[in-house]
Amino acid sequence: MEGKHIVALYPGTFDPVTYGHLDIAERCMRIFDRLLIAIAINPWKEPLFDVEERLEMLRLVTQDLPGVEVDSFDTLTVSYARRVGAQVIVRGLRAVSDFEEEFKMASANRKLADEINTVLMLPSEKYFYLNSGLVKEIARLGGPVNCFVPPPVEERLREKLASGEY
Ligand code: ADP
Repeated sequence: MEGKHIVALYPGTFDPVTYGHLDIAERCMRIFDRLLIAIAINPWKEPLFDVEERLEMLRLVTQDLPGVEVDSFDTLTVSYARRVGAQVIVRGLRAVSDFEEEFKMASANRKLADEINTVLMLPSEKYFYLNSGLVKEIARLGGPVNCFVPPPVEERLREKLASGEY
């Protein structure tokens, strides 16, 4: 490992970023030299927050994490990884449900770019069942989301709700 500079790419929708995502990011910081958290722009998904809003939230909640950068991309994940020099793609693995999808995606990415390896990381147990959809649903129904998302995200969820966009 001596002298090796490992750049990891953590791609996802991040609509919005949660403590589950941040748990994975913090674990990555202990292993990799640089972590690039990047929003994959997917025209088939209908996110609540547009790319700029999601980027702003990601920037706010990662600003104190050294070696972490934020970006977005609209190409194949492996093409983007090659472009930014990432040797590793990181994805989170929650209880049971994620495995099949992540396995499929990692296999496809390996076929497309054999030199890039996918690392699947388990979050802290308390985030095993947390996903952005759950947070949006709880927020929409007026429930508290402060144990799932950092304060700036909570605030933006409240603003969305108040603006009637949601
Ligand atoms: P996607 O739509 O690409 O799955 P998400 O933003 O939902 O995007 O998630 C991005 C990545 O973060 C995925 O690998 C997902 O499994 C992981 N992730 C999301 N929430 C959690 C969590 N609570 N614990 C661990 N990993 C998570």
